[in-house]
Amino acid sequence: MTAAEPNLVPADGVVPARHWHRLDDGRIQCDVCPRECKLNDGQRGLCFVRARAGEQMVLTTWGRSSGYCVDPIEKKPLNHFLPGTPVLSFGTAGCNLTCKFCQNWDISKSREIDTLADAADPETIARAAQQIGCR
Ligand code: SF4
Repeated sequence: MTAAEPNLVPADGVVPARHWHRLDDGRIQCDVCPRECKLNDGQRGLCFVRARAGEQMVLTTWGRSSGYCVDPIEKKPLNHFLPGTPVLSFGTAGCNLTCKFCQNWDISKSREIDTLADAADPETIARAAQQIGCR
C-alpha cells in the first residue's frame, strides 16, 4: 500500500497480501521468503503473520506493533549511518526463522498477536519518529 492509496484497512487489521501464487493442487504458495509456505484455507505460514483466508493470502499484523523503543543508531546493524543519532525501533509479532536461542521468543513465536500488539499504522510511526527526532 502506498501513501497515495486510501486507507482500506479493516478494524481487525487483516489486509490482502501480495507475493503469492496458486498451486495446481489448490493450495496457495507464499513467495516472500525461502520457506515457500504452501497453505490450505485457514492455515498460517511459519512466520504466523501471513495466512490464507479463503482464496487469498492476507497479512494479519499490518498496522500492529509488538513494541517501540528509541535506541542509539549504533545498536543497529548499520555501518556509519547517521552516527550519534537516535533511531525509533519497532517490530511485529512473528518471525520466519526458528532459532533455538532466540532472545525474543515470546514475541517472535507469539500466537497471541492481539494481546501483544499496539495499533501502529505506517503514517503514525513516521510521524512519531519525526516528533522525537529520529531521522
Ligand atoms: S514463513 Fe511467512 S513469509 Fe516466509 S514463505 Fe512462509 S508465509 Fe511467506
